[in-house]
Amino acid sequence: MSRPLTRVAQHPPPRSPEGAGADSEAAAVDARVNLLGMPRTELERFFVGLGEKPWRAKQLMKWMYHAGVGEFGAMTDISRTLRARLAEIACIEAPELTPFPTAADGTRKWSVAVGDGSEQVEAVLIPEAGRATLCISSQVGCILDCAFCATGKQGFNGNLSRAEIVGQAWAARRELAAEGSSRGITNIVFMGMGEPLYNFDAVMDAASVFADDLGFGISRRRVTISTAGVVPRIRELASRSEVSLAVSLHAANDELRSRLVPLNRKYPIDELLDACREWLNQLGDRRSVTIEYTLMEGVNDQITHAVQLAELLRDLRCKVNLIPFNPFAGSEFVRPSMRRVRAFQTHLLNAGIPTMLRTTRGDDITAACGQLVGQVRDRTRRKARHQARRLIAVEPGRTRSGSAAPP
Ligand code: SF4
Repeated sequence: MSRPLTRVAQHPPPRSPEGAGADSEAAAVDARVNLLGMPRTELERFFVGLGEKPWRAKQLMKWMYHAGVGEFGAMTDISRTLRARLAEIACIEAPELTPFPTAADGTRKWSVAVGDGSEQVEAVLIPEAGRATLCISSQVGCILDCAFCATGKQGFNGNLSRAEIVGQAWAARRELAAEGSSRGITNIVFMGMGEPLYNFDAVMDAASVFADDLGFGISRRRVTISTAGVVPRIRELASRSEVSLAVSLHAANDELRSRLVPLNRKYPIDELLDACREWLNQLGDRRSVTIEYTLMEGVNDQITHAVQLAELLRDLRCKVNLIPFNPFAGSEFVRPSMRRVRAFQTHLLNAGIPTMLRTTRGDDITAACGQLVGQVRDRTRRKARHQARRLIAVEPGRTRSGSAAPP
């Protein structure tokens, strides 16, 4: 039986990046600004706006992120008057986490209640030798409807606020600390539910808090944004943040990729890889792009595909992560044999492309890639509305199958 955790304040987290209520009713209930996930410069401006010195931001961030404190009253080096003022106009609210049983391999998964509490996303902690990677969500559901992804099947229900994004890591860390775990979170990957680059501002704010020494203090290289290929945002990324980039490629030709990742119809492979090269040039360091390639039997796992992929990536500074497909209920795809997977990897390695084989983690709690929220239902019924709109949009008497057009 799961139990609610990490309820820091009485009110549900607000939906906008700033933390203000998204609708007037919510605003009437709670107009306090949520300071969780607010980047340092903005927090300094917030304090200046209160007639305080900007260094108050430093004080507050240390309490929030270093000490994990969510109540202003406990911040004893801040004057009583200011603490009382903060409690009136601001809050520190993380979404509520509910744990799944820990997987046999130590992988942890939490259901994360967002919005008014009726919507769910998931966060997964993957412990490995010497590091612990937290995979977080950026949206409720996903509009992109990739053919092999459980999340895409539930449709899109909205963006997470930056407080909800940062709150996943903040609450998970508090949870681990409460259990007496000495393990910290060493890496953050935006590979949970949603397309992070379609929630760009909130994700950029969250990334800045993760990388800030006064925030989570995680190296920018260890914060990774994973995208299905939103080209305009990849071109903009380096000017906003120095986090790392992973691209979900999954196919080496447009015909196949458009079937697996419908966004490819809008941003084909050449355009996508050009944007990756531009990102590398803008960063100017020795970073490489991570290429994610999910192997599905009989779909994209043959040696001819490996040959095509090696040719495609020949002049891109990259490393490839091969991920054997994680089956989920109702999925049409199958995981290939390890013999096939190894043959694919060997071909890429022989072509000089650094290629890692990602072992599946948390299988027994459906925490693996593409399985998130495989069992969470669309509680807001937006999916039904979305499908109804799609049906209305086609000719009377006909239905259409396939993916929603990417925005
Ligand atoms: S793989 Fe990623 S981008 Fe594609 S539908 Fe799933 S969550 Fe969205």
